Amino acid sequence: MSYRTSVRGLFDALASSRTVTGEIEAADVDLGGQVFHFEGPISFEVTLTNAGTGIVAQGTATANVVTPCSRCLCDARLTVEAEIDGFYVLPGHDADLPEEQEAELIAEDHSIDLEPAILADVVVELPFAPLHDEACKGICPVCGKDRNLEPCACGQEAPASPFAALQGLKMEEDDEA
Ligand SMILES: [Zn+2]
Ligand SMILES: [Zn+2]
Repeated sequence: MSYRTSVRGLFDALASSRTVTGEIEAADVDLGGQVFHFEGPISFEVTLTNAGTGIVAQGTATANVVTPCSRCLCDARLTVEAEIDGFYVLPGHDADLPEEQEAELIAEDHSIDLEPAILADVVVELPFAPLHDEACKGICPVCGKDRNLEPCACGQEAPASPFAALQGLKMEEDDEA
């Protein structure tokens, strides 16, 4: 899948920009066994700007996803908002960039593909331990009852999510960045 748009007109002048709105169909995303299904396309609005060294794409994207609640396994429906940040350079112009600057290449026909950046930025926003409701009581680990539907007498707290450890890892990565 791709979402190609031309940036030819942006080369005329530094700081010239153009806003692109559109929709992208996305396949299911599996994050360590947690499968997120997109309900409808990802919608986005991105402004493309000639930054001299390349074309910057900045904007927002919104996606509606459904995924099993990490506590009770019922369908959790979530709206995900993502900040889009992409950078595109002409072939041969990526040598002068700082090493940490990630860039995609502008095609020979002066088009760029917005899909990879939008999809990546949306996936980053998918939660590690999605809940169908912040107050979800989960399934009792002792008797197996869905405690949202009927209370049980086992007196156990909601089980720790298997993703709790991953969430810790994610935060450490963010600290390093
Ligand atoms: Zn739940
Ligand atoms: Zn129970």
